[in-house]
Amino acid sequence: MACPAPWKLECATLTGRTITVFITTARGSAREGVTAPPRSVGQVRSEGDTWDITTSAGSTALFVATARALEAQKPDPLAVDPYAELFCRAVGGRSADVLDGKEPDHPLKTADFGQHFVNFQGARTRYFDEYFRRAADAGVRQVVLLAAGLDSRAYRLDWPAATTIFELDRPQVLDFKREVLTGHGAKPRAERRAIAVDLREDWPQALRDNGFDEAKPSAWIAEGLLIYLPGSAQEQLFIGVDSLAAPGSHVAVEDGVPMDPDDFSDAVEEERAAAAEGDRRLFFRLVYNEQHAPATEWFGKRGWTAVGTPLADYLREVGRPVPGPDSEAGEMIARNTLMSGVKA
Ligand code: SAM
Repeated sequence: MACPAPWKLECATLTGRTITVFITTARGSAREGVTAPPRSVGQVRSEGDTWDITTSAGSTALFVATARALEAQKPDPLAVDPYAELFCRAVGGRSADVLDGKEPDHPLKTADFGQHFVNFQGARTRYFDEYFRRAADAGVRQVVLLAAGLDSRAYRLDWPAATTIFELDRPQVLDFKREVLTGHGAKPRAERRAIAVDLREDWPQALRDNGFDEAKPSAWIAEGLLIYLPGSAQEQLFIGVDSLAAPGSHVAVEDGVPMDPDDFSDAVEEERAAAAEGDRRLFFRLVYNEQHAPATEWFGKRGWTAVGTPLADYLREVGRPVPGPDSEAGEMIARNTLMSGVKA
């Protein structure tokens, strides 16, 4: 498919200047419950910054969608997201070529990092799909995707009648998603309301304004989001969920222990120096490396039965290898927890 405007121009420049988000990890000890280590110099993030699907935090939505598209190509996928490929092809360049085997050096193709990252995305998609199935079976009919990105669950999962799905993300990310899906005639399988908002601002009011009913139970997800928010915004996010969630609501969070602050600073500096030499990697400069509080504890203390599953355990459960501590992906996997809970 041809790139739809307004990112067509971006697509054209992408071939020469692809912005590739690629996640690697610096060595160093992960610390439990680290809060707000000093923010490193070299951050490309700032208060109120904006992006589209190929820039800054927006490009991470494309990166994880690319991983889902690669997972779907496997003979034994953990999850199949057929829409992920449409997004990659709409953007074109390396995001499409990697699906056709033309980018053997793409970060998602490396043995040390890429293969594990694709497994990770397949696993987390399956984990959260099952979470939503449980919430729907329990009678929940309001779903909130915080930082929906290119999440296609509204189109992909079998939602009960009268389900409303609220998708929150930045406007240009949602515009891209709408144009691609509309262009392919995709129809949501529930009522879908896209809400263009900054999750560092008053998103609960935006949700209410779009018909969210706080008297009824809801199911929430923060998947691939917390690392892109400063600790204060993470706290506001949790408070917002807790205050809008009626008894019987469900919550799911992908949570991670921050890196050791010195290792993080080193990684940011390395990435910045590499960028000055033309390297396209962009990850450490996008994340805040802050954790307001471990999600399982935070929700657990507020009347939710929250259960955290270390990502490594879940990978083993679904039959995928867990990278060793010396591999590039090892620490990333070790620091990650998939959590879900129900409010009493
Ligand atoms: N949840 C989706 C998934 O797993 O496919 C997308 C994850 S993607 C890694 C991160 C998403 O967070 C992007 O779509 C980005 O636009 C969104 N995001 C990050 N910070 C945000 C903010 N302050 N307000 C709204 N969206 C934000």
